Amino acid sequence: MSENKSRHFIQQMIDADLAAGKNGGVVHTRFPPEPNGYLHIGHAKAICIGFGLAKEYGGLTNLRFDDTNPIKEEIEYVDAIREDLKWLGFEPNGGEFFTSDYFNELFALALKLIDDGKAYVDDQTSEQIAEQKGTPTEAGKHSPHRDRSPAENRDLFERMKAGEFDAGSRVLRAKIDMANDNMHLRDPLMYRIMYATHHRTGDDWCIYPMYDFAHGQSDSLEGITHSLCTLEFEVHRPLYDWYIKNLDIFPSCQTEFARLNLNYTVMSKRKLLTLVEEGYVDGWDDPRMPTISGLRRRGYTPASIREFIDRVGVAKRENIIDVSLLEWALRDDLNRVAPRVMAVLDPIKLVIINYPEGQIEMLPSENNPEDPESGTRELPFGRELFIEAEDFKIEANRKWFRLAPGKVVRLKSAYKVEYVDHVCDDSGKVTEVHVNYFENSKSGSDTSGIKAKGTLHWVESTHAIDAEVRLYDRLFADPNPDGHKEKSYMEFLNPESIQVLSNCKLEPSLKNAQPGTTYQFTRLGYFTPDTKGEGVFNRALTLRDSWKSQ
Ligand code: ATP
Ligand code: MG
Repeated sequence: MSENKSRHFIQQMIDADLAAGKNGGVVHTRFPPEPNGYLHIGHAKAICIGFGLAKEYGGLTNLRFDDTNPIKEEIEYVDAIREDLKWLGFEPNGGEFFTSDYFNELFALALKLIDDGKAYVDDQTSEQIAEQKGTPTEAGKHSPHRDRSPAENRDLFERMKAGEFDAGSRVLRAKIDMANDNMHLRDPLMYRIMYATHHRTGDDWCIYPMYDFAHGQSDSLEGITHSLCTLEFEVHRPLYDWYIKNLDIFPSCQTEFARLNLNYTVMSKRKLLTLVEEGYVDGWDDPRMPTISGLRRRGYTPASIREFIDRVGVAKRENIIDVSLLEWALRDDLNRVAPRVMAVLDPIKLVIINYPEGQIEMLPSENNPEDPESGTRELPFGRELFIEAEDFKIEANRKWFRLAPGKVVRLKSAYKVEYVDHVCDDSGKVTEVHVNYFENSKSGSDTSGIKAKGTLHWVESTHAIDAEVRLYDRLFADPNPDGHKEKSYMEFLNPESIQVLSNCKLEPSLKNAQPGTTYQFTRLGYFTPDTKGEGVFNRALTLRDSWKSQ
């Protein structure tokens, strides 16, 4: 426990619980994703808080798939959630569970409430039930079936389970208080009939528990001491507590914190699924998506995401976090760890006319000046190189430090070169620049005494690897795509969120580049090999935050 950092409200609460000897000094949390989509950066917050607190107090965390809705849930999502969690660096040391594992126990708990006269089967339609619910200022009405005897309720509920009734024809409700100020306590639904095949229990069940009944009871069954969730569940807490008290089960305790909201994106799984299904993005892991898998494919590191979440902090007030904070966290991490390499995205030829034809020499170049232990690698250098088209200008003023008539530049890790002439194609576009090099100006042993203000990156032409490079921009052009009453978030998709460059040249060491390593391309930004396309690199970020200055 760090003493100097001020402790947030959940830490203070746990400190007090421990001081009071609650739960025998145990801290046991859980992360309960519904497997109906991929995890996003918002889930990363819940994960870092839940797993982080248990770790801080030497406790345990369970991963629990909250799989009570067979219609929207799929095994693909279960696998993806496991992978993302592991990649983020978290291990469910309390075990991995499925709410569906508890269907028998939950059924038994429901029978207990029935026998105690605290739950009943209602034969009304969902519309009728909704009509009787009342409003926040007006009490609801009792269902005509509310006073059925426990024996009749038990019989009906068992027959619901046995598949004797049609979907939607009956529900089980808790018998609480139709006049309560909290609408969630107005005889909430506990079970509904659904004839759907479940991804784990198959056709064993045709009744499924509602979120509120399943969730809290699963917490108790697992002995969860601190059930942490987002603020929208605050109004559910009285019901969470009611079930625990009336079932007399392990007293798990729910605490809410503010969701993570990020600008320039949407974060609900339903909306992300729409983007995937309607083909606006290349899957859940499209590098523009705010999903964990998208961020990974984009070149994000787990450490940068954890650092970002740490900076966001834990509080009860909702706010919107600027996505540039996420980008800052990545830049900060990559600046320290990313290997430096050279690549040319928009190549033109640079011919060193006084360099021997056919000669290749190997020049050492630092892998990472921020990390002296990362060593050097050998770069092939020769007579014909590629340089960036924008690094040459036919007409340039005194402030232009790159290549132009009359100018001298240094080629990074190599020699200084001086302009001789250039070649244009029919349209006037420069295709080749000719230079002379100074043999005694080699990096590290330069005795030429010649001044060069600019340094260019380059790749030797016969050893260069061809690559496609994808540049990304924000997926939405509006800071709050969800915040427009009359317009759907889909209307704010940024039409220029991806740019594909197909004729890029990379230094040969990148032949073995693997997804999972993000490189700094000298002067250009941070890039990582794509997980799907051979010879494709994704730009994670530019070197500086260019968005702000636009
Ligand atoms: P979404 O609204 O994106 O569909 P969800 O809340 O339905 O998400 P779940 O799978 O139920 O997704 O979420 C698992 C856990 O992650 C819950 O405890 C939930 O509170 C938390 N969570 C979801 N979104 C966020 C967020 N934006 N910030 C923090 N925690 C979140
Ligand atoms: Mg949910």
